[in-house]
Amino acid sequence: MSILSIVEKGNPVLDNPSDFVPIEEIMSSSVQKLINDMKDTLDGISDGVGLAAPQVNIPLQIFIVSKRVLNKNISAPVDDLVCINPKIIKFSKTKKWLDGEGCLSVRWYYGKVLRSTNVTLEYYDEKGQKQTRGAGGLLAHIFQHECDHLIGELFIDKAKDIEYIEPEEINKNYI
Ligand SMILES: [Zn+2]
Repeated sequence: MSILSIVEKGNPVLDNPSDFVPIEEIMSSSVQKLINDMKDTLDGISDGVGLAAPQVNIPLQIFIVSKRVLNKNISAPVDDLVCINPKIIKFSKTKKWLDGEGCLSVRWYYGKVLRSTNVTLEYYDEKGQKQTRGAGGLLAHIFQHECDHLIGELFIDKAKDIEYIEPEEINKNYI
């Protein structure tokens, strides 16, 4: 188990598209170790809700969503959601300037970003199985933010009403 360092805006790994993970390598020890390290890293960040591999300096198409988001309203707890080679195959026509979006790689800024309210994501899970999952609310928001990371885009470049939130006033989500 290792805790990985989060890279900050300015590092070129955040500005470039990440590479696809060959399907046959998903079960390899190096990819499985990376996934576990990403989970441990996100676990240790109390205001973190999602993490993309380029944010830990690994340019691969992998992101995870914290179980803290997924377990809000359900009685059977689940683990972090792992999405490999994700692709949003459906965006709702309805878009909203969603309140407060922040990023672990752009501390401590917060802004509004125009996002679809619902999306459908196709991805491979950590066992190499193809999955499709619809999402609304915060999860739809996270899927879009993370997919942007994998093509080298940061929220701050398309956000409006950007504000600087003092680290002490943490009651926000960072992705
Ligand atoms: Zn981010």
